[in-house]
Amino acid sequence: MLVAPNAYDYLVIGSGIIGVTIASELRRRHGARVLVIDKESGVGKHASGRNSGVLHAGVYYKPNTLKARLCVEGNRRMKDYCRAKGIPMNEHGKVIVARSEADLPILQELYQRTQTNGATSTLLDPGALKEIEPCAKTVSQALYVKDTAVINPERVMESLTNDAVNEGVEFRLNCPWVEPADACKARTSQGTVAYGHLVNCAGLFADRVAHAYGVGAHYRILPFRGQFYRLRRESQVNVRGNIYPVPDLRNPFLGVHFTRRPDGEVTVGPSALPLLGREQYEGWGGVTVGDSLAMVRFLGRLWKRNKDHFRSIAWTELQNLSLTGFFRKAQGLAKGLVEEDLVAGKSPGIRAQLVNTRTAELLSDFVVEAGPRSTHVLNAVSPAFTSSMPFAEYVVDLMRCE
Ligand SMILES: Cc1cc2nc3c(=O)[nH]c(=O)nc-3n(C[C@H](O)[C@H](O)[C@H](O)COP(=O)(O)OP(=O)(O)OC[C@H]3O[C@@H](n4cnc5c(N)ncnc54)[C@H](O)[C@@H]3O)c2cc1C
Repeated sequence: MLVAPNAYDYLVIGSGIIGVTIASELRRRHGARVLVIDKESGVGKHASGRNSGVLHAGVYYKPNTLKARLCVEGNRRMKDYCRAKGIPMNEHGKVIVARSEADLPILQELYQRTQTNGATSTLLDPGALKEIEPCAKTVSQALYVKDTAVINPERVMESLTNDAVNEGVEFRLNCPWVEPADACKARTSQGTVAYGHLVNCAGLFADRVAHAYGVGAHYRILPFRGQFYRLRRESQVNVRGNIYPVPDLRNPFLGVHFTRRPDGEVTVGPSALPLLGREQYEGWGGVTVGDSLAMVRFLGRLWKRNKDHFRSIAWTELQNLSLTGFFRKAQGLAKGLVEEDLVAGKSPGIRAQLVNTRTAELLSDFVVEAGPRSTHVLNAVSPAFTSSMPFAEYVVDLMRCE
């Protein structure tokens, strides 16, 4: 155990849900001195505070992947946690609807995956669907997933952070990691910190941090912005839980959907627009010349190779830039929706999607890589919020403190 001032057994970069849950797990398991640093003035200011808040149930993921393994347990544990802490949830579940006959084989595949992953789902005919979601549209069949729930991610982040502080984890905010210093030291804006082991949970910047430690040279984060609308209060469309489309399983995103939050507001979204800047929440904000040039080059390569049907993702998402394009997607899911029902929604979130630059592939499973006295969480994409508790245990199991 390190005892000198500004020396910690573990230095965690990033106070999103992944950094906070890993820090708590390290403290609980090893009684270690753990410091979490974040460049922002508060915790969870990026993906962890800006997501849809859906606690996924384990429907989509290929069997034997980390997502399949960790999501079902994560859903159960996060719901237990919210109940124990009195954090409100909408537990009305979710329906996945077919927009054409072509969706039906995929619906069957999702049903199979749910069973294999240990989650629960039921195939519904339109009559049974109406009982659960009166306004949902479907063709022949829909899938009902009762374990899906919705929380306010900011409430969960606040609660987990309070727990971590009470357990003895230290936080230093407004404190960006800058670069590696001497062996087992990191330079931050608030001085040099010595550590026994560094844990990189830097989300949109996780590749950059990893590269500085000689890890994951063939990985790069590609940011995708998720824009939300919401249903105006006067809308005739009644959404009780979640209405999702059958997704294109070749793409990493689930498509525009309806989600009723615990406060009653119904969000519609998110889109998934590839960006030139890692934190390009609005206009050209967060865009830097060096990063953007690299992003343009890389998007060009993806476009050319058309891997993972990148062209179809990009084309679909470009249509979502207009309200009318977005409305068309949402209209396919809910009866009675009119364009005026969609009004500006909550602030957007940006997905830190990992790409393998050798193969031009968008990676779908979680990726964690080990480096010298360091561990790098490189693809904590959805459903990492849902899976965060068992995911933190998995990452800590992988760590070897030399
Ligand atoms: C639009 C959208 C919708 C989503 N919906 C869902 C959903 O419904 N359900 C679900 O389970 N998941 C969902 N997700 C995914 C989920 O939000 C993420 O998987 C999860 O929040 C990732 O957490 P994280 O801690 O890895 O990243 P983040 O929350 O982004 O945290 C990374 C942290 O690192 C900090 N950081 C970066 N660089 C530095 C540096 N140099 N020095 C110090 N700190 C640094 C950042 O400030 C940030 O606080 C969604 C994501 C998005 C964007």
